[in-house]
Amino acid sequence: MKNVVIFGSTGSIGKQTLEVTDNLNDFSIFGLTCGKNIKLLIKQIKEYNPKVVCVESQEDAKEIKNIFPDLNVYFGEDGLIQIVEENLYDILVVATSGIISVKAVLKAIENKKTIALANKETLVMAGDIVMEKARKYNTPIIPIDSEHSAILQCINTFDNNFAKNLWITASGGPFLKNSRDEMKEFTSLDALKHPRWNMGKKITIDCSTLVNKGLEVIEAHHLYNFNYDNIKVVIHPQSLVHSFVEFIDGSFLAQMGVPSMHIPIQYALTYPKRHEGIKTGSFIPYNKSLEFFEPDFEKFPLLKLTIECGKSGGIMPAVLNAANETAVYKFLNNEIKFLDIEKLVFNQIEKTNNILNPSIEEIFETDRIIRKNLETIKL
Ligand code: MG
Repeated sequence: MKNVVIFGSTGSIGKQTLEVTDNLNDFSIFGLTCGKNIKLLIKQIKEYNPKVVCVESQEDAKEIKNIFPDLNVYFGEDGLIQIVEENLYDILVVATSGIISVKAVLKAIENKKTIALANKETLVMAGDIVMEKARKYNTPIIPIDSEHSAILQCINTFDNNFAKNLWITASGGPFLKNSRDEMKEFTSLDALKHPRWNMGKKITIDCSTLVNKGLEVIEAHHLYNFNYDNIKVVIHPQSLVHSFVEFIDGSFLAQMGVPSMHIPIQYALTYPKRHEGIKTGSFIPYNKSLEFFEPDFEKFPLLKLTIECGKSGGIMPAVLNAANETAVYKFLNNEIKFLDIEKLVFNQIEKTNNILNPSIEEIFETDRIIRKNLETIKL
């Protein structure tokens, strides 16, 4: 029996993780955490009977403790750390958004718990620190993101001696065929219509600017210890090939499947083994063509900028991430226009002096400063 803790169990990946574990008979839920959606968390507690939970606020923690007096209930960032300090679990699924879970993940790595990682910020902002620790403690970090899972499934090991280039596929988002002029007028409703994947709002906007793909390049760099020059982005609108690996002998291996997160979530939980899946069949793309294009870096300047921030290292990925996230929420709240997202991000990057080899505290401080800058900025 494997005991699982899910950080962010009420979000899109968290809910799908529970659907996956429902289908696996040797997994049980040890801990669940959420931000504010305690209504759903209460339902999940009744169904899965976890031993520990954590919520964002002390008030919500009290409410849950009143309903479930025998349950260990924690709250806030420290609550997440308290959960990972409990030694009675095997796998930590990190499906929170933002940086709240980063310190807890570092603790879980020290405690040698397998990390199934869906959260982007962990590697984007603190990839050097996280991977150095994972190597030191020999803790596996298994990606849940479909592209990184695809790469892992192609090389089936973190020892990538024979791999030459990693090719990360991108659907291209909803604006692939639109001009920059047309993009000016796009609203959050247009940008939320993702052609292939059904995901949270923030990541869907990141797909429409292709920032998401840049962030995935940074994650791949850390996860697989690959140089940026050997990580390529390729537009593949059908989203059936989830990424591929080019080997030194000229051979390419690709991983394909229906665009469903259940598959990479399950692979992360059962790695390196496989188990009967819940979304199988009806995949073979009869009479469909698979297209591959080079990305248009001029039309999507944030893709280029994100990769450049990755190459610069230091605090630049954290600056980019914080500026982008704040700008995306402004766009979702209809405070700014679509192309203002990139304007705000470029503006913060230009103003920043990089700090190389930052501490985790410096990374957090950078995140805080950039978010504050964007609160007051006038366009
Ligand atoms: Mg992805």
